[in-house]
Amino acid sequence: MRLLRLDDPGGVMAKNRAIVKLSGANMDIDLATPPAEIEWQQDRCPWNDAEGTGTHSCAVKNVSICPYFCGIEYLDTVLCCYPHENPFRKAGR
Ligand code: SF4
Repeated sequence: MRLLRLDDPGGVMAKNRAIVKLSGANMDIDLATPPAEIEWQQDRCPWNDAEGTGTHSCAVKNVSICPYFCGIEYLDTVLCCYPHENPFRKAGR
């Protein structure tokens, strides 16, 4: 666990200026939902586009994490390195 300090003396985080990084989350993330099924704009997965499918997901709860998945940027942006595998990915994960 890592602790981040924010430089926000008077902002919304003034009373709680720390964010804790907790590893091992059990995530379920995809960019493969048909537009008609969601109310927000969603970019398409480049791997799904390249293969003309909708089967690839960034992280599937209890199962796997895409080899091109590099994390999440606040608030809901997927960091994707397709078509190059995430260089920080550990073997077997
Ligand atoms: S990490 Fe990239 S390639 Fe993998 S499923 Fe998500 S958007 Fe697609």
